[in-house]
Amino acid sequence: MWRDGRPYVVEEIPALRCVSCDEVLVDRNTAEGLQVIARELPTGCKGTRRIEVPVISYTSGMNHRL
Ligand SMILES: [Zn+2]
Repeated sequence: MWRDGRPYVVEEIPALRCVSCDEVLVDRNTAEGLQVIARELPTGCKGTRRIEVPVISYTSGMNHRL
């Protein structure tokens, strides 16, 4: 999820994946929990751990393929 222009990864979300269409489903409690997390992100949570993610520019990504 994004908050104040920064990305946050939320893992270990209890969810079900539909076997026919691969859609991920969360129940109402989980959805409300995620809203609480999103609301409190700027103040409430430093995160369990940090990861680095590659940022890929579309243009340079295409250049590598050509
Ligand atoms: Zn489905």
